[in-house]
Amino acid sequence: MNAPALPSTHIPFYQPVADECAVFEQAWRQQLPILIKGPTGCGKTRFVSHMAAVLGLPLFTVSCHDDLSAADLVGRHLIADGDTRWCDGPLTRAVRSGGICYLDEVVEARKDTTVVLHPLTDDRRILPIERTGEELQAPPGFMLVVSYNPGYQHVLKTLKPSTRQRFVALSFDFPAPAVELAVIQQESGLDAPRAQQLVTLAGQLRRLGGYDLDEAVSTRLLVYCGKLMMSGMSPLTACRVALVEPLSDDPDTLAALQQVVLTQF
Ligand code: ADP
Repeated sequence: MNAPALPSTHIPFYQPVADECAVFEQAWRQQLPILIKGPTGCGKTRFVSHMAAVLGLPLFTVSCHDDLSAADLVGRHLIADGDTRWCDGPLTRAVRSGGICYLDEVVEARKDTTVVLHPLTDDRRILPIERTGEELQAPPGFMLVVSYNPGYQHVLKTLKPSTRQRFVALSFDFPAPAVELAVIQQESGLDAPRAQQLVTLAGQLRRLGGYDLDEAVSTRLLVYCGKLMMSGMSPLTACRVALVEPLSDDPDTLAALQQVVLTQF
């Protein structure tokens, strides 16, 4: 669980893809929660940190996993020096401070966990804390943002309709080539011609059908590749370690991906 990112004058770089910044801001003003869907590494987390900084809100990020309990979000009693004291979880801290609570990969969390979100996501905007008997009223600044990846591995894992229908939803995907080019250049420092080569390669790799690929190459991996190339690594090695090996364990698939790389570098 990450420490809260306090609002700062530094706004993390985010290259907008469509009208997502305006939608987010309006949802926040109307006190509506947001659900962001999209493949891993396409910019969801960066978008949320960017918007938190733009709106001047503290951000509490939780990477959800299948063991995440309601207490991990809301808080628990801790024993220290023989004393029992209550310790707020990230959701409670976000509510108290009127900030953003971002639950990344929310479908991974246990079902009972998502239930604690319900009273916060309708017009009551309350967080009942059973263990302390408190009932917190979320201040206007508070916003709940959740994300998940509706791709391959979540065929069986999805949000219940009763949960998902409480959110305004945005669909993310890998950005259009011109946007991805700007992202790679900005994030890795790579010059335009080489960044363009990576964008073209990404398009070819993403179109490669018929292989054992769970997910397509992400913008995040393209940025990694750009950084390695900037550090002086040969493009072929950078592509192999950043764009080919992370995608599969199957030798035939790896060979096919590497073949595509060879057409570009
Ligand atoms: P996700 O949360 O969707 O898994 P991230 O937000 O962590 O993905 O994005 C991974 C990386 O990709 C970021 O650290 C950033 O370098 C880059 N990135 C992707 N899309 C964008 C974008 N639109 N603007 C800026 N950076 C982006």
